[in-house]
This record gives sequence, C-alpha cells and structure tokens, in this order.
Amino acid sequence: MVTPVFKVKEAFYTLQGEGARAGRASVFIRFSKCNLWNGKESGRKAAVCQFCDTDITGTDGENGGVYSQAELLNLALRLWPNTQHGSPYVVFTGGEPALQLTESLVDDFQQHRFECAVESNGTLPLPKNLDWVCISPKGKSDVIIKQCHELKLVYPQVDLSPDDINDIQADYYYLSPMADYGVENSGMIIRENMQSATQYCLDHPQWRMSLQTHKLLGIN
Ligand code: SF4
Repeated sequence: MVTPVFKVKEAFYTLQGEGARAGRASVFIRFSKCNLWNGKESGRKAAVCQFCDTDITGTDGENGGVYSQAELLNLALRLWPNTQHGSPYVVFTGGEPALQLTESLVDDFQQHRFECAVESNGTLPLPKNLDWVCISPKGKSDVIIKQCHELKLVYPQVDLSPDDINDIQADYYYLSPMADYGVENSGMIIRENMQSATQYCLDHPQWRMSLQTHKLLGIN
C-alpha cells in the first residue's frame, strides 16, 4: 500500500476570518493546488475561477512542505496552544482541499480531539466524516456537494448569481464581497461590491454578510 503524502502550501495558527465561525482560534492547513485554476497568472483568463487572491502553488509557505499523515497531525498539534481550554479546531483549505483530504486524515485528527472543518469549492467529493463543511462555489464550475453547513458566495461573480445555487442546502448562507486581485481602482471596486452585497442581503434576508476580518486585523 502506498503511504499518502500531503502537499501543503502553508500551515499556521490564527483566527478564522470569515463566515459563521469568524473569530474562532484555528489551525489553518492550506493544501497546494486547485482544480479550477493552475495558480499561474498566465492561466488566470482561461481558468474556471478567475479571481483567486491566494498563492496556491508549491510548498514554500510558512510550515509548507510534503507531509505524511502522522507528520501533518504532529504539525497541527504543535501549532495548537498548550492549554486545556477551548476545543482544538483545524480548517483544511487550499487550493482545493478535496484533491488531497482523506477520511483517514480527518479521523486521525478527530482521534486527537480536533474538530475538522473544510473550505471547498464543492466540485469534488469530500470525506464524509468532516465536522463542518463550507462550500464556496466559483464561476461556471459544476458543484456536486448539495448539502453543507455553510454556503459562502463571493459576490458579485460574472458567471454565478445566488439564484444559480439555490439547490444547495445550508445551515448558513453568506455573501462575501469580491476583493480585488491587483486591478486598477480596486478601492472603488471593493466599495461598490460591498454596497451591492449589502443591498442583496437586505433584499434577501436568508443571506448574511461575511467580511474578511483577518484582513482588517492584519493577520493571515
Ligand atoms: S476555487 Fe478557491 S482556491 Fe481554487 S482558484 Fe478559486 S479561489 Fe482559488
């Protein structure tokens, strides 16, 4: 049997910035690679997801590397503070974590008291034993996960409106105003996106606003 290895771009301890669990202390494990963009600027225009603001290639970030399952668990245990207070919490993100995440890895973390969350674009199967599933659909991608705890939509998207995903059942629905990725007049565009997201939430109260509080706090 081949021992699985995990390509991790970065891993760090921080406060969850967005969504229903914003403000919660978390170990973030960012897996390398995504199925909706190759991570290169030259590939952005042809990508299904064209507005990614994250470096998702390689293993060269903070605590990045190629890990065995046991090594990745040990890294998370080292990052979590040495205290009996508060439940250990890990967020598997990316890139697209479904490309690498396994039920066995989730199980191993849970055996060590970690509550396991994922942030995924929803286009690939996910391990069934996750504790919290946040799906963030992108562009014209084919979302196959139709039930989740949290649905988070970057808004507005040219190819995707909230109406296009009303077949996805979630406990919480969040709009996240589209940020810039280095375009001209980005400040003005972000303000416009915030205003349109605000108006959408006011008109459709099922949706709540999610801001990137980690950026306001100046943390990862
Ligand atoms: S789906 Fe997520 S990780 Fe993949 S390119 Fe889009 S924003 Fe980046």
